Amino acid sequence: MDLAVALYIVPTPIGNLGDISSRAIDVLNNVKLIACEDTRHSGILLSHFGIETRKTALHDHNERDRADWIIQKLSNGEAVALISDAGTPLISDPGYHLVSAVRNAGYKVIPLPGACAAITALSASGLPSDRFTFEGFLPSKEKGRIDKLTELKEDPRTLIFYESPHRIVHSLESILTALGEDRVIVMAREVTKTFETFLCGTVKEVLEQVKADPNQQKGEIVLMCHGYRLAEDEGIPTVVINTLKLLCEELPLKKASALAGQIHGMKKNALYKYGLENGL
Ligand code: SAM
Repeated sequence: MDLAVALYIVPTPIGNLGDISSRAIDVLNNVKLIACEDTRHSGILLSHFGIETRKTALHDHNERDRADWIIQKLSNGEAVALISDAGTPLISDPGYHLVSAVRNAGYKVIPLPGACAAITALSASGLPSDRFTFEGFLPSKEKGRIDKLTELKEDPRTLIFYESPHRIVHSLESILTALGEDRVIVMAREVTKTFETFLCGTVKEVLEQVKADPNQQKGEIVLMCHGYRLAEDEGIPTVVINTLKLLCEELPLKKASALAGQIHGMKKNALYKYGLENGL
């Protein structure tokens, strides 16, 4: 196979080795050099497929220096591939500086399609997939997480996060605090692997399941949250109507709607409209 001189972006499996494409194997066999996030980690995958191409490490700490060296290889007429530990390079993985430098130097960058945990999880989540936002990992500190989630609270698109197993309970708690306990979420764990599970429900329900089952606090996780919904589009949940009714016993409808909206993470206008239509 004669490859055009270019930097090839090659996705690798996120769990199931059968998910590598035959084109990916061809490219990895035929480039002169494979830049790997971790040469030892990728070495296992590459030897599984009998690929003996020379490897070099390209990670967050050496990416800028390595880019010049890789551009030199391209200028010598050598095709180079980039892979990460799993999934699509650059997606919460190194590669952005390299791709940008290679393009700026005037060389071709050729992407191969393949596994990506976020897209694979979204496709089976049952959440709206017409519009979504990928947010990578949430901040590790609680304040940062709450600030980030508050910023996203009224975003109508499906929200996608990567999460680590030891932080999953804290992150679910932050989602509950910032987006409200009724926000529908899907937690996809160990996608494409033996213990693949999808937990779906309100954040309160999923948090209870995860706390009750230590197995749900293991493995690799994609968290997805339903986007912000206008109440009139989706019907107002009973729990919100109950709050609104209670507040209306003591407060004018306008104030009660604003408070109920704040408590449940919903738009006050929809609650106000409901109140007017239902004589509250
Ligand atoms: N580049 C990768 C991709 O295309 O999906 C993502 C790399 S990022 C460093 C690793 C994170 O992706 C994990 O912490 C987890 O959140 C998510 N992830 C990777 N593989 C997964 C899997 N099989 N199931 C669920 N989540 C996965």
